[in-house]
Amino acid sequence: VEIVTVARAILLSLLVFCAVLVGSGEPQFSTDSAYASLRTLVADIGPRPMGSPAEQRTLQFAADKFKEFGCQEAYVMPMTVAAQVNTSSGIAVGVLKGSTGRIILIGGHCDSAGPDIPGANDDGSGAACVIELARVLSQRKHESTIVFCCWGGEEEGLRGSTYFVDHFDRIDSVALMIQLDMADGASYLEIDPDYNGIKAPQWLTQAAYTSFYSDLGYRGMIYPTASATINSALGGATGSDHDAFLQKGIPAIDFTSDVDYPIHTPQDNLENFSPAGLKKSGDLALRLVERFDAGVPSRETAKYMIVQFGIKPFFIQHRVLWIMVGIALVLAILALIVLRDRSKRTEHGHRIRWSSIKLIVFVLIIQTCIWMSETLFGFVTGYRFPWVNGFGYFALLGLLSGIVGLWFALKCERIFPISKDPFGFGRRSLIGLTVLTLFASLTGPELALFPALSLLFMALALLIKSTVPRVLFWLASLGVFVRLIFFEEFGLILRSISENTVHTALSLIGYEAAFIVGFTLISMPFVYGFVAIYRDGSTDLFWINRFRTQRGLTLVFIPPVLLSGVLYFVRPSYDQKWYSILRIEQRASAGADSSVVKITSSEYFNDFVLSLGGKTIELNGRENFAEISPDKPSGVAWSVCETRIDSSARSVDRDSLWIVTRTLLVHSVRRPLRVEVRYTSDKTLAMNSPWAYKRGGRFESESDTVGVFTWYAFPDTLLKVPVTFSLVKNQKVCEMVDVTFDTLACPVQASRPMTNIRLRTIVTARHEFGVPPSPVAQMPETP
Ligand SMILES: [Zn+2]
Repeated sequence: VEIVTVARAILLSLLVFCAVLVGSGEPQFSTDSAYASLRTLVADIGPRPMGSPAEQRTLQFAADKFKEFGCQEAYVMPMTVAAQVNTSSGIAVGVLKGSTGRIILIGGHCDSAGPDIPGANDDGSGAACVIELARVLSQRKHESTIVFCCWGGEEEGLRGSTYFVDHFDRIDSVALMIQLDMADGASYLEIDPDYNGIKAPQWLTQAAYTSFYSDLGYRGMIYPTASATINSALGGATGSDHDAFLQKGIPAIDFTSDVDYPIHTPQDNLENFSPAGLKKSGDLALRLVERFDAGVPSRETAKYMIVQFGIKPFFIQHRVLWIMVGIALVLAILALIVLRDRSKRTEHGHRIRWSSIKLIVFVLIIQTCIWMSETLFGFVTGYRFPWVNGFGYFALLGLLSGIVGLWFALKCERIFPISKDPFGFGRRSLIGLTVLTLFASLTGPELALFPALSLLFMALALLIKSTVPRVLFWLASLGVFVRLIFFEEFGLILRSISENTVHTALSLIGYEAAFIVGFTLISMPFVYGFVAIYRDGSTDLFWINRFRTQRGLTLVFIPPVLLSGVLYFVRPSYDQKWYSILRIEQRASAGADSSVVKITSSEYFNDFVLSLGGKTIELNGRENFAEISPDKPSGVAWSVCETRIDSSARSVDRDSLWIVTRTLLVHSVRRPLRVEVRYTSDKTLAMNSPWAYKRGGRFESESDTVGVFTWYAFPDTLLKVPVTFSLVKNQKVCEMVDVTFDTLACPVQASRPMTNIRLRTIVTARHEFGVPPSPVAQMPETP
């Protein structure tokens, strides 16, 4: 009996073991396999701007993979016009049929942000995940039909996905859309269910959190509330391909990895990419497909706000937000009444005038210290933007320098004293925050919540008499606002500033002044609030009074000096990830034999040597702009534009209306990056062309008097542009042609460590025409 039992036990274990084997036999997302596709996109194909042959190759590669993995339909949906640009972009589509026609769509964009940008993270990684998911899901059981999409033209304004939503015949069957835009989630993954004030339904957002944290056991998914709120208030400024779906009312969600990664720069390459994140994004998409394979709870979008604490999201409905805004406003009014009463009971000594203005000047001093600290540091160390790599250190430096400014302002206050009456300051604080709240309310309750909470806390700080809670409320009021202003993706704004090539002293001062004045104005309600609290009590809050002494300054002055020393030795401004940008641009007129080369750099030239057209040029010191004319005018005849007036110029309406048909020919030696033809006139311009964006219809012009044709990227070396104009007598039309190449016509040799050098040649041509003096063929209309 015992032996039988043991045998049974063994048999049972074997069965269980086999079951486990079968279970684990279900194909899993493979990092290696996804990375192989990524390498094809980034290393073999390279930069893939919209409409480029490289993007076409990528779309074909994706479609071939979809077919290879067993998709019943796999094709490239062509797109010839995108955002008023003539292009040859498209969308790679793979359809994996299920037992129902209900569709779950998984997408990622395969274009990169320009001809110099490999786009490993953005979004080669997402596209590679989509291809890998096609492999995995083709071997798994599923009820829903699964559609895989690699979008073209995302970086030019979500072109591929927008086109797809308008043209895919089964778009009404799409129940759920999952977008993977950047899958280097080695550090964390951002969840993005937003589009312009609307969101994915709550069930989808919640499922993403549960799948990621509970089901998969991953760590590090965040929702950036402040960034998302600002984005939505600005009309969904930085979205992804899920936008078009949400706009159409289809549940859609996007997952994006760390945005503090050098996306949209040549540093978005394989060397800087960590493949570990691919599986995180892939597994999350797989889990969501599994979860909703049998159907989704509803097909809708929603409006709510997400606030994440730890790993848990909290969903706040809009009506609740409006109630909170209302409470803040009511409390502010109450506080204003109470302050007015208290003010009446306070005895006034002699009135001190101009207190409010003096306070603004003091804050200007403090803000100047804050914003000038990194400029000064950069000046000493020889960098325009010393903080590119290590912004946190400079934020701390700014804060400490601000304290030095505070000390100086307090000294000034001795000479130019401000009022002892707390209530006037309290009133100004409340009114300032109320105005901000009302202003933000115009965009909806989500953005309004931030100033409303600041207002609420400020009102409480002014109403309550006890020192500790009122200081805490004041800090809370300030904290909420700081969170909004320095939103999670603030780094992106700073990076774009560090890419600027502004080079005149005046514009640099303008930049700095804009920050100083802007931050002074925005910090005033909190400064007024603080002064009100300070004047209202007998405590020396934050040791302000003691700090006024000489010793106080010595104590806070030493840290910034030490810190600057450490920064100088420890933090390099540029590294493997963050490069400075140098642009070399050659401009020439078509047919002319002279050209001008402009060199602009985001960073100081610092002994930069380049050889251009056989000439060696040294660029020195703290400058970042130079203009030179090469000796040898080689290569400027790269592009030739010629215009032929057709024989069919004719009058229609007794000499007053003329039809003029023109054909423009643009020949280029090599494929241009972009071609733009612009027609302008002083009178209304009626024109028609097969290249017009609205085919068959009237030309879709920028304005009544301007019409533009654009080709992007890398159109043919010969463009034939026939255009028919209806002109009135004496009407003049100006034709301007810009042909841009992604390299220099004039040979150049240049390199600088940690610098991306971007080369462009722009050849321009300009013609003016009207009704020909003696049209070749006149065909007056018969009465
Ligand atoms: Zn992207």
